[in-house]
Amino acid sequence: MRAIVIRNTGGPDVLRCEQIPDPTPGPRDVVVKVSRCGVCFHDVVIRNGVMKRGVVLPCIPGHEIAGEVVAVGGDVTLFRQGDRVASTQRYYICGKCKFCRTGREPLCAQMKFLGDVGLFGGYCEFVAISEDNLAVVPDNVPLEHAAIAACTIGTILNAIREVGNVSPGERVLVTGAGGGLGMHSVQLARLAGAEVIALTTSPEKVEQVRAAGADHVVLGTRGEDFSKQVMELTKGEGVDVCIDNVGSQVFQGVRRSMAISGRWVLIGQLTGDFVPFNPAQLFFRSISMLSATSTTREQLKDCLQLLSLGRIKPSISQTLPLVEAPAAHTMVEAGHSLGRILINPAA
Ligand SMILES: [Zn+2]
Ligand SMILES: [Zn+2]
Repeated sequence: MRAIVIRNTGGPDVLRCEQIPDPTPGPRDVVVKVSRCGVCFHDVVIRNGVMKRGVVLPCIPGHEIAGEVVAVGGDVTLFRQGDRVASTQRYYICGKCKFCRTGREPLCAQMKFLGDVGLFGGYCEFVAISEDNLAVVPDNVPLEHAAIAACTIGTILNAIREVGNVSPGERVLVTGAGGGLGMHSVQLARLAGAEVIALTTSPEKVEQVRAAGADHVVLGTRGEDFSKQVMELTKGEGVDVCIDNVGSQVFQGVRRSMAISGRWVLIGQLTGDFVPFNPAQLFFRSISMLSATSTTREQLKDCLQLLSLGRIKPSISQTLPLVEAPAAHTMVEAGHSLGRILINPAA
């Protein structure tokens, strides 16, 4: 098959298209013919070497995969040839540890992330994934939407429903609202019944963010304290939950925007900067700092159902063939893409 293989880290040109053997399924594996694979910022930091933790080269990048089942191992019970499937962000979990047994499998110590470890990734024609890490895609959901369900929608579902525990009528602040995760944060916070305050630094994205469901859009410039505007919008009370896709750059503004007993959910960190703060500023007002990352299979199934019902509109910018993977990385790295770029290995 044709595959993009990273043998050494570096610029986009290290993404070379090679001819390698097709994967053969182990007893519990499902071989998926890749229809679409999303290009994530995670893939960029694997390729340029910034992220080293758990990475085993050579590797095929890509963890946002949807496609059709073409072969199954002898012990596979959940899938058969012809099924349309989407991946979680993993290709292996142990299935036996306390996290796997309690529906928290992203925390499994033996978990292998797609795209990071060896020749198991989505920038290629076929990939073998153990059946614990796939879900069937509803008939009315296109595979290009299913491909990004786990990473871009599931992470936010996790943050809003499980970690942030957002209730109807609460106020939710979304930072980085014009970005990929931000646009889905606005939609899911709205679905949860919240009053949504969206923060963006891009004037050209204000209308888009409003259309996604934001009740109020605060246009900030980098470094400015936006909390005064948030406090005005909330009658001086602040927000009950913050879904923070930005990190250090907005830290002090978010801190001043939190209501008493607020839940601050950290998801994104765009720079390498550290932030100083006094713990008393949080505990005197009972503010909790929480975090969310990754998606369980049950959350992926819920995201696919939300897509099937038309409750969430995935944001996709363009689809490129395998050989254009370097161009895709250049665009993602520069932050020039409004919505996900997808790879179509058959193109
Ligand atoms: Zn991703
Ligand atoms: Zn496990």
